[in-house]
Amino acid sequence: MSEFYTPMLTINGESLSPSNKLDVINPATGEVIGQAPDAGSFELDQAVSAALRAFPEWRATANAVRKEKLEKFAAVLDQHADELGRMLTLEQGRPLELAKQEILGAAYWIRGIIQLELPLVVEQESPLSRVEVHQEPLGVVCGIVPWNYPVMLAAWKIAHALITGNTLVLKPSPFTPLTTLRIGELSRSVLPPGVLNIISGGDALGPSMTGHAGFAKVSFTGSTATGKRIMASAAHGLKRLTLELGGNDAAIVLADVDVDSVVRALFDGAFTNTGQICVACKRLYIHDSIYDEVRDKLHELARAARVGDGMVPGIAYGPVQNLPQYRRVLQLRDEARQSGLTLLEGSPVPQCGYFVPLTLVDNPPDDAPVVTEEAFGPILPLLRFQDIDEVIERVNHCDYGLAGAVWGRDVEQAKAIARRLQTGTVWINQNLALHPSVPMAGHKLSGFGTENGVAGLLAFTQPKSILISNAC
Ligand code: NAD
Repeated sequence: MSEFYTPMLTINGESLSPSNKLDVINPATGEVIGQAPDAGSFELDQAVSAALRAFPEWRATANAVRKEKLEKFAAVLDQHADELGRMLTLEQGRPLELAKQEILGAAYWIRGIIQLELPLVVEQESPLSRVEVHQEPLGVVCGIVPWNYPVMLAAWKIAHALITGNTLVLKPSPFTPLTTLRIGELSRSVLPPGVLNIISGGDALGPSMTGHAGFAKVSFTGSTATGKRIMASAAHGLKRLTLELGGNDAAIVLADVDVDSVVRALFDGAFTNTGQICVACKRLYIHDSIYDEVRDKLHELARAARVGDGMVPGIAYGPVQNLPQYRRVLQLRDEARQSGLTLLEGSPVPQCGYFVPLTLVDNPPDDAPVVTEEAFGPILPLLRFQDIDEVIERVNHCDYGLAGAVWGRDVEQAKAIARRLQTGTVWINQNLALHPSVPMAGHKLSGFGTENGVAGLLAFTQPKSILISNAC
């Protein structure tokens, strides 16, 4: 084994390392590749106190200066993209080039978010009076992120929270803490102490954070089940909440598409990052007239896919990231097979680590678990449809409402369908397109609150109305 990582917590701009540690496993090999600090209530209190102490000065810091510091932070990510990308592949599993892209993408995202301007609204103005609505930071934010895009999703929380004048305590997933902790170490050279604190820990740490009285807001990205727990826990202090939760996104492929020109994008929309994307296509509805052709071409792509250890050049799809998720994907596959459904498997996968072949399920019934549940892994149900009203009803018959896509040559028809889908984002003839200036918000059990866009910034602030009379 070449590397063994032991990054520290970053609290008040300094290292802290409790004696308890968590092993971090490379999902491609099953080997322990590092250890992360297992922070307890002492470290949590220290981190929140540091963030509370840093808040008055940071909120009073001119926006231009905050931008400058966050720009330097983005530059640090760029400069360390090789080192961080390697660490990310080893803990997350994604192929090396894509892991490096996540680091560079995080820097790009920070730059995009800090360009957005919070509005100062003048609601009324006359010679005698003026009403201004300002946006103020909330205080100390608790950021909690999952393991699928650990650095990108952490960067979203950092950029939104810090540019709006809040301070942050951020917790990565215990499955992927190393790269984020290392970013905390690197941030100390560019951000004032206490503004960004990064702590890692086991299953007890998240609930301790959301119940901690020092936080004004919880910004959470993860599963719907955890989101519900967090909402209950945050009720005590009436903490503000952003909940970016699970999805079971559908794509609709209309009869008039040119199959050859869309099939690769359909495949990527489902299997990029081995299907572990909240906005990945998890149900693919294909018009009956082209169903067989699309299915067969997707199967060809799955058979040609190179799945393996992300450190090996040429690998395009890594493992499922962790053991519980691996078991969950296998369980969905087993259930589908046992109930007599046809599974179309992709290329063979390595026998070590948490690998699952990229798998298509041929036209399962709408109530099959592989259709109704979020797999969050490399398994995609293909579903036939005949009629537009019918498919919209089937797509909307879902507890989640994160994103979705419509594919068709008639863009006006696709737009009309998009407007009827109960999701926060709809792509037309594309997928997985996200941008710092475009709000992302879940409907239904996919959560509430917004990230990205001015609406995302507003979610980290509260309005203050100032009513001025010139009468005296
Ligand atoms: P998860 O909910 O199990 O864990 C997410 C984070 O929450 C981890 O850091 C975990 O340690 C922490 N956590 C767990 N229990 C907690 C509790 N009771 N209180 C506070 N924190 C707690 O999710 P996961 O398995 O890491 O991620 C996969 C899920 O995330 C999928 O459902 C996926 O769709 C979703 N996701 C959503 C988005 C989005 O933007 N909507 C983005 C990425 C992933």
